[in-house]
Amino acid sequence: MPVILRDDVPPAAEPSRPFMTGLGCGFTRRCPGCGKGRLFDGYLKVRPACDACGADNDRYPADDAPPYFTILLVGHLVVGPMLWLHAITTWPLWQSMSVFPPAVVALTLTLLPFVKGAVIGAAWSLGIVREPEPTLPA
Ligand SMILES: [Zn+2]
Repeated sequence: MPVILRDDVPPAAEPSRPFMTGLGCGFTRRCPGCGKGRLFDGYLKVRPACDACGADNDRYPADDAPPYFTILLVGHLVVGPMLWLHAITTWPLWQSMSVFPPAVVALTLTLLPFVKGAVIGAAWSLGIVREPEPTLPA
């Protein structure tokens, strides 16, 4: 779905939508507009309307950014210590395979909703919204 920058959404430089506020509210899985309402219905489904302020948070696109940033984060959190551990000691393969792959899966599934919230908060701050669905001629 194409992403557009709309003129009616204030840019990040305006104090009404500070970037760190959007990022922080999104990371805590709260509505970036009010900081009170829940951002998600379940694990990753964005609520169509905030239950506190009624804002349509579903219009902020996340697309592939949350998995990308989650993989980037998990890779640094797991691969670095794994390489360091293998540099200072010798682990048998079964031991490595019983620790690191489950750590990758657990960290990825844990971090993904928080990172998706942060991406939505950043989109809210920067005024990035989805293009409205085109209507078919009658
Ligand atoms: Zn709200």
